[in-house]
Amino acid sequence: MANPSSPQSPQFARGASGAGDVLQLFMDGAAHSRTDLAALTGMARSTLQERLDVLISLGLIGTITDGASTGGRPPQRLALLPDARLILAIDLGASHLRVALTDLSPTLVAQSQLPISFADGPVAILESALVLADELLASQQRTREDVIAIGMGVPGPVNFETGRPANPPIMPGWDGFDIPAWFQQHLDALVVVDNDVNLMAIGEKDQLETGSEDFIFVKLATGIGSGIISGGLLQRGAQGTAGDIGHVRIRRGDGIFCHCGNEGCLEAVAAGPKIATALREQGIEAHSNTDVVALVNSGNIQAIHAVRQAGRDLGEVLAASVSLLNPSLIVVGGRISAAGEHLLAGIREVVYQRGAPLSTQHLQIRTSLSWEVGALRGASMIAINQALSPAAIERSALALISAS
Ligand SMILES: [Zn+2]
Repeated sequence: MANPSSPQSPQFARGASGAGDVLQLFMDGAAHSRTDLAALTGMARSTLQERLDVLISLGLIGTITDGASTGGRPPQRLALLPDARLILAIDLGASHLRVALTDLSPTLVAQSQLPISFADGPVAILESALVLADELLASQQRTREDVIAIGMGVPGPVNFETGRPANPPIMPGWDGFDIPAWFQQHLDALVVVDNDVNLMAIGEKDQLETGSEDFIFVKLATGIGSGIISGGLLQRGAQGTAGDIGHVRIRRGDGIFCHCGNEGCLEAVAAGPKIATALREQGIEAHSNTDVVALVNSGNIQAIHAVRQAGRDLGEVLAASVSLLNPSLIVVGGRISAAGEHLLAGIREVVYQRGAPLSTQHLQIRTSLSWEVGALRGASMIAINQALSPAAIERSALALISAS
């Protein structure tokens, strides 16, 4: 029977006793005294101290001084040292490469970006990412040795287990490319790769004031995709392709062929480049997602109609998604989301009209708070989760023991 005077932390799993398990108690930024930790874990003092010694030797936790004293000597408290190591967060888009350093909390330390072209192929693009990373590290007087993990988002499906893109339609040359192995030739760091929209969903969830446990994040840019948070957890599906809504067939797609080989895909009709093409056919100069947004925001009627129609097309697929998943929130990000209310009006028109009353009465549909930062934050968060997981810490602890 549990001792009611020393309730174990709900985060501390029964049977968990390694240094990695103890580290999890610090991951929310909380500071703990050794007495608190003994109560939270139910571990013997000597065992607990051994685990703490490992975490201190790895440089992940340390003693903090704070003023919370009621007289006398305050108990020493331990906490995560967020800047002990760094995370390299990378967001690869169809036309840009963003690279950031974060600490382990994860607070953004520095970031930089470059325009890129997928025609250059994976090696040239990853080399550019490494050049940016080295510049950022130098700006902080840090080195590659300080990087514990790399989190990277790419605009296409990814096998999350292996970190290899899987038939990404807009990334020629990347199918099956071993991104983790490439980085690990240059850095001794764990590498996690995911679809960029999944990372935007994770980053957005982290910024929501009241935790929305069920929402869909939609990216509308050069491609179209979504990240699904259900029951508070990101849903990747069996092969990592959950949320790939860009290749769902829509009514307006009849006779329009998609680069994926199918007919009538949402992405073949409503993605940014398709909106720009539709505008050029009406004699309006529009060549990029930025052009489309600029036209909408300058009040160009044809551009407003085109974006609203793209919203309706998106709404057709989202109405079905709402029936399947019953989210409380749909958040739209990506370059075209800057068209704001005109885009949302089209989405709302179809989703609220088609959805069952119970599934839509409390459903909010809005644009993202900050999807660009969100993608980097999400990349950093998945990297931290893996690099500081109990299993990863056990491996580091073993390496530490065998090196001593
Ligand atoms: Zn398609």
